[in-house]
Amino acid sequence: MKILVINSGSSSIKYKLYQAKDNNHDFILLASGGAERIGISGAFINHKKEGREKDHIFVELPDHKKAIHSIFEILTDPEKGCLAGLQELAGVGHRVVHGGEHFTKSVLVDGEVVKAVRESSVLAPLHNPPNLMGIQAVYELQPKMKQVAVFDTAIHQTMPPKAYLYGLPREQYTVHKIRRYGFHGTSHGYVARKAAKELKRPIKKLKLITCHLGNGGSITAFVGGKSVDTSMGLTPLAGLLMGTRSGDLDPYIPLHIMQTQDMSVEQVSGLMNKHGGLLGLCGKRDMRDVIDGYEKGRGACIEAVEMFVYSIQKYIGAYIAAMNGVDAIVFTAGIGENVGLIREKVLENFGYIGLKLNKRSNGANKTLITSKNSKVKALVIHTDEEKVIASDTFDILNG
Ligand code: ADP
Repeated sequence: MKILVINSGSSSIKYKLYQAKDNNHDFILLASGGAERIGISGAFINHKKEGREKDHIFVELPDHKKAIHSIFEILTDPEKGCLAGLQELAGVGHRVVHGGEHFTKSVLVDGEVVKAVRESSVLAPLHNPPNLMGIQAVYELQPKMKQVAVFDTAIHQTMPPKAYLYGLPREQYTVHKIRRYGFHGTSHGYVARKAAKELKRPIKKLKLITCHLGNGGSITAFVGGKSVDTSMGLTPLAGLLMGTRSGDLDPYIPLHIMQTQDMSVEQVSGLMNKHGGLLGLCGKRDMRDVIDGYEKGRGACIEAVEMFVYSIQKYIGAYIAAMNGVDAIVFTAGIGENVGLIREKVLENFGYIGLKLNKRSNGANKTLITSKNSKVKALVIHTDEEKVIASDTFDILNG
């Protein structure tokens, strides 16, 4: 069974084609790539068939439909492709950022689903409309193709009201749907399940804290495999200090800036989303560059690293209290998987709950990074959001 996974953004479409081995959720990557600069001059497609050199294909991509059409052409090309024809494709799995309160799990796309995703667009205006453009383009080109929507928010729909409500007049929730939704759900869910497997314990019996630390970052608390709280909120701006996002602020700050610095909503949004975080604090958004500055003793980089670590520690501490304990802390995504220094600094403050770091394992990015007699475990688990989308698509297509 072959499954195409699509992540459709406003000017790019990333894709991965998988071959699923029957029933054991083992997927082989056949090809991957991305259509870039859709709707902009100088568009191209980067395509990599496994076992072959990367292809750069320059092609006009005025819209998403043309981009999907070109991707289909490449995937069925006798040389570059891996499909004898599109009939070989069992289905397409799409990443959809916001499912609002409509979706608690992945679903087969139909008219009702499209309507509900469109309704949720007000909550993710930058993400849901381009996600839908990808779905629509496949539908227009291949109306019979089965499509599955996998939501970043779905896994967090198990949070209790005390975790998802904000202290605002109730109609802000009931009428305007303002609440905590949470994001990175596919990643958090995947690494939580993997961690349970690594620990050889049923997930139903575990309290886990998963730290997804990439350019964007969020932390989730899982009790018995269910998300009970997460650091992102109505939008992915909340929570941790991130590459370019501020994370948590005194909620009055944006209003204060607008009132006193004559800035518009768009300007303040840019300030907090694109010019904040590590970038705003030390001029570097990529953790590799920040660490480089830290090691060279640059004051702003040292402060940025300390703030980054502190914001993670505070969430872990809060979630230990919220869950009345924790069995394991899991690190994933670019920074979580690769930067031992950050993990070491974060975990320094959890000796009091019986967590003992194994510095050598941590330095080598091993899976288990705590010592044998550590009461609370810490793990490093590689996240693979596309594989989760392929896996959910596989399950839904197989009923
Ligand atoms: P996203 O998917 O959110 O764009 P990633 O999960 O790819 O982000 O993570 C990007 C972050 O991870 C960047 O800050 C980058 O510097 C960091 N990162 C990735 N690999 C490494 C590495 N080998 N060493 C240090 N930092 C890394």
